Amino acid sequence: MAGIESTEQPLSVTGPPAAEDLTEEQRQGRACWACGTADGPLHPDGHAYLRTVTPDVAALGYAVAVCTRCSDVTR
Ligand SMILES: [Zn+2]
Repeated sequence: MAGIESTEQPLSVTGPPAAEDLTEEQRQGRACWACGTADGPLHPDGHAYLRTVTPDVAALGYAVAVCTRCSDVTR
């Protein structure tokens, strides 16, 4: 019986990507962080953090939003 080893990392889709990957509109929460639509309704969906964190700006995050359709996918 062969052992089943899973070496694949589970794809985490529980949160927004790094802030660098978002547009300005997405960072401001005016567009869905997943698909980029600005058509509502948009819901607050946590924060997107900058990948490069400087000591001065530790864990700088943007309150981002997700549209209803993407909200179903990412949950
Ligand atoms: Zn969306």
